[in-house]
Amino acid sequence: MPRNNRRRLLRGLAGAAALSVLGLPVGRAGAAPPQVVIAGGGFAGATCALALRRFAPSVRVTLVDRQDSFVTGPFCNTVIAGLRPVSAITQTHEGLSAAGVKVVHADIDGVEPTARRIRLGDGRTIAGDRLIIAPGIDFEWDAIDGYGPDHVERIPHAWPGGARQLRTLRDQLRAMPDNGRVIISTPDNPYRCPPGPYERASLIAHFLKQHRPDADVLILDAKDHFSKEPLFRTGWGARYGERVQWRGGRRAGGRGWSKWMPQASVCVPRAATNTQPMCSISFRPRKPAAWQPMPG
Ligand SMILES: Cc1cc2nc3c(=O)[nH]c(=O)nc-3n(C[C@H](O)[C@H](O)[C@H](O)COP(=O)(O)OP(=O)(O)OC[C@H]3O[C@@H](n4cnc5c(N)ncnc54)[C@H](O)[C@@H]3O)c2cc1C
Repeated sequence: MPRNNRRRLLRGLAGAAALSVLGLPVGRAGAAPPQVVIAGGGFAGATCALALRRFAPSVRVTLVDRQDSFVTGPFCNTVIAGLRPVSAITQTHEGLSAAGVKVVHADIDGVEPTARRIRLGDGRTIAGDRLIIAPGIDFEWDAIDGYGPDHVERIPHAWPGGARQLRTLRDQLRAMPDNGRVIISTPDNPYRCPPGPYERASLIAHFLKQHRPDADVLILDAKDHFSKEPLFRTGWGARYGERVQWRGGRRAGGRGWSKWMPQASVCVPRAATNTQPMCSISFRPRKPAAWQPMPG
């Protein structure tokens, strides 16, 4: 069989497989093309949309996301450390549109599984033969006592949420005093991207070494051990000396940082139960034993 025909055949088989995985009819004569609605245009939603367009071009794909551009988690620490601009990790949905995906920028308010439709914040609904729900994850805002959405401008988490949080944290790092201290709270397992907080601590230490040589990073960890610990410890020792401090589990006076006292600008290491990623950061003049439990 000529190579082009073979490729077409393979692509057709892959398309049929994609349709049958979704339970959609394969090539029903005269029927309207099947419609798939994808809620969320991050890594999962966007990849799924592209794969559907590639392997099942007869399927109409609508993707809904509240953001008109997507700032990736991967490589975001290089932005915080000033090694790259935010634009280097920002993706638009233009490639999806070019591939034939209908992209809608809107807030999704709810999903109606029985009716197979999603509800948008402005009251509109979008229905499909199949819905794919890919909204990622969110914070457990009650995991740290005293810390909530109202505090993120002052104590940025800089995880998801677009460029604004990344810029806030980057600018705070640049503005911190020469002998400042960055405090990172890391939760107990399970959470997404286990090495994430330690990678962030490394890149912040890199920045401090260049620009604030007397400053340091203190990690208050809810865990006794952490992902890729030997690798990180070796790297920290070799590159940053005492600049990265880690206090884990019982040594941190409990189970990590569980209380934030905004007025006093102190955090309190105590019993924590957070199970979602939370990388909260604060800066304050460096003091010995800042990780000791505070009365609270
Ligand atoms: C700092 C950091 C570093 C990381 N590094 C790596 C790495 O090196 N390698 C790796 O493999 N993974 C890494 N990850 C993990 C990776 O980013 C996630 O696994 C991935 O983003 C998950 O994809 P997702 O599509 O499920 O969710 P997301 O990428 O979070 O996408 C969800 C999308 O849904 C949209 N959405 C959510 N709710 C609504 C709503 N109500 N209305 C409209 N739209 C909505 C959001 O705007 C978003 O675009 C990292 C994550 C972070 C935070």
